[in-house]
Amino acid sequence: MIRLKNEKQIDGIRTSCKMLSAMYREIIPLVKPGIETKELDKWARNWIRRAGGQPVFLGYGPKKNPFPAALCVSINNTVIHGIPSGRRIADGDLVSLDCGIDLDGFISDQAITIEAGKVSQAARNLNKVTRECLHKGIEAVKPGDRLLQIARAVSGHAKSFGYGVVYQYCGHGVGLALHEDPSVPNTPHGSNPRMMAGMVIAIEPMINAGAGDVELLDDEWTVVTADDTLSAHWEHTVAIFHDHAEILTDDIIL
Ligand code: MG
Ligand code: MG
Repeated sequence: MIRLKNEKQIDGIRTSCKMLSAMYREIIPLVKPGIETKELDKWARNWIRRAGGQPVFLGYGPKKNPFPAALCVSINNTVIHGIPSGRRIADGDLVSLDCGIDLDGFISDQAITIEAGKVSQAARNLNKVTRECLHKGIEAVKPGDRLLQIARAVSGHAKSFGYGVVYQYCGHGVGLALHEDPSVPNTPHGSNPRMMAGMVIAIEPMINAGAGDVELLDDEWTVVTADDTLSAHWEHTVAIFHDHAEILTDDIIL
């Protein structure tokens, strides 16, 4: 069931989104070769609580295997849901961060991919195109049009560069819970509802340098590319109004 939000609810979600983007602006300078990924998680967790929010990823998921961190840190061939650990960021790593905040019941969700130190040209290109895919997807958000227009825009752009589009995971409705209907895929398959005023969605292309296939590791969280190639991930929370779409999270310039 798609939950349409009223203006007051969208105001609350927007405030949560602005808080999340403020957190990102402060954490980006820390994402440097040498730092342990669990230090980044601890920093994010503390920042969010100090700001008056709750880290919504922490404890999310099945009771017997909840996600153990506030922040997903997904490096190189890891697509999403990388678990922070004692691993240190290395020079040349492509580091995706994904995080969400619950602020007074209003949920935000945003992901960015950071180039740590001196990364390869191939990694830079992939990251640039993935970010472009996010914006192509957002440009396709039009009230009254069908949702899979987003996927057509995202996958068309990625495929024009020969990249693989992850199809086993996708964006989603968001705002009153972390994952709501509808699914917002990056490839044009699945249900195709009309975009309506009051919908709030997370658009999040996950683009691979190789094929779009992924595998789930034994921890049942970490998703990696099946062919071990690089992956990048960018995400915004977007609200749909009668005559326009608004990106509620801030565009982070790296
Ligand atoms: Mg996310
Ligand atoms: Mg998301």
